[in-house]
Amino acid sequence: MRIENARYVLSVHDPRKLPRASAPEVAFIGRSNAGKSSALNALAGRRRLAFVSKTPGRTQLINFFAVDDDAFLVDLPGYGFAGVPREVRAHWDVLVGEYVFHREALAGVVVVMDSRHPLTPQDERLLDWLLPSGRSVHILLSKADKLSAQAGLRTLAQVRAALSRVYPGATAQLFSSLKRTGMAEAQACIEAWVAAHKQKAPAKGE
Ligand code: GDP
Repeated sequence: MRIENARYVLSVHDPRKLPRASAPEVAFIGRSNAGKSSALNALAGRRRLAFVSKTPGRTQLINFFAVDDDAFLVDLPGYGFAGVPREVRAHWDVLVGEYVFHREALAGVVVVMDSRHPLTPQDERLLDWLLPSGRSVHILLSKADKLSAQAGLRTLAQVRAALSRVYPGATAQLFSSLKRTGMAEAQACIEAWVAAHKQKAPAKGE
């Protein structure tokens, strides 16, 4: 599987209209501005791929990107809802909740956090919310190019220590879309999830 070959397939607003699953899916989630679109673009090797999610009207949708016929990268709408109308928040809960808690094809969730201020209260709330789903979680500490090497390692150690309390079993790494650091590690995690999911549930519909 070559993540670089990802292409946009469709966007979903209504959780009842999720497409029939045909391959394992890896979801990406993050607070607005965390660097999620840039991470998806970097991993997919396309400068504009995930910015489809940023076009007006698309920010509250689930966007699917196909990777060959092997897997889907799934861009979940951002969270961090200060000042957002209650209906938007309620829609997020229903749409993302249905997807994360019930989607059989979902192999794991990549959570993107800004490495300069990781595990904000909102990020912790997201992890608390995710925990009962039992999903595999991998954290990309984004924009790592903005930290010195030493500060990056310190942050990584702190986040890993906190995760053992907040989301045991979750993994974390430093990542920079700009400098392309951490790409191989992120790709390896995604590929391992996809391979494990294929073994567990050989291709079938939902
Ligand atoms: P999203 O809202 O989570 O999808 O975030 P974006 O991917 O749109 O990024 C938010 C801002 O952070 C933009 O101004 C990006 O240019 C910037 N950004 C994203 N990734 C990186 C990175 O790896 N390094 C640096 N220096 N800036 C980044």
